[in-house]
Amino acid sequence: MRTAMVISPHADDAAIFCGGAMARFAAEGWRVIVVRVTDDRFDSVGLSVEETVKRNSEELRKAAAVLGVSEVVDLGFETDRLADTPESAIRERIVFLFRKYKPHTVFSFDPTDIHEDNQDHVRVAQAVAEAFWVSCFDKHHPVHFAEGLEPFTPAERWFFARGSPGADYVLDITGYLPQKIGAVLAHETMMRNVLNQYRLQLRTAGRRVGLVDAGVAGGNLQPLVEMFVGGTAHAVAQAAGFPEGHFAEAYRRVRFGDLDELFTQAGEDITEGG
Ligand SMILES: [Zn+2]
Repeated sequence: MRTAMVISPHADDAAIFCGGAMARFAAEGWRVIVVRVTDDRFDSVGLSVEETVKRNSEELRKAAAVLGVSEVVDLGFETDRLADTPESAIRERIVFLFRKYKPHTVFSFDPTDIHEDNQDHVRVAQAVAEAFWVSCFDKHHPVHFAEGLEPFTPAERWFFARGSPGADYVLDITGYLPQKIGAVLAHETMMRNVLNQYRLQLRTAGRRVGLVDAGVAGGNLQPLVEMFVGGTAHAVAQAAGFPEGHFAEAYRRVRFGDLDELFTQAGEDITEGG
């Protein structure tokens, strides 16, 4: 069984950016692991920090269950402070998890995205990209080897980004859109805070959207989430030339780079039963 590992800076990033892929991979028999890097302690509106930590953690478990995730790993770094956290400290945890879970494919924010303003996303993207090769080294973190682990690195990295500027691969998630929407809806606390950000921005612009105000105030989130998540997935599918009625997610997929062709031609199959 192959393993896919999603490195999610915050609880909701996984469902929002690659929930369709997670549901599809799980349905196709992969073990899907979600690594949540921060504790999301500030991501709510009108709740205490303690209540926020509790709810966001519970809601991630709900979302994971909807998507067929096998395991959630919490790294517990303080949210919205990763810019002040040494990159090598985050990287070490990711190297450890690569060596422990041996993922074939890793999903993460794209470290080349210059439009990202969330420094937790930027930091995690950098740490994952660097962990990819550091994890191979037999002199990096020898304490892992004392625990029985060995040098290891994933075969593929699937990077996502807002607006997917560098995307070169589109995954059809048509049958999995309901699960993706369900998983995003599970993050009720974080979604209401997202809507509150829109509410404040709209207010500054001298506007008001009733559905957004209602969502912040505890109303039904389903119509808005269906509109946002479904609309994005539909636009990605349309841009890729998929038939009407299809939904998709876009990635920058990295395998062996320039060596892809050589390794495809010269490679021998060493998978079990291969
Ligand atoms: Zn995030």
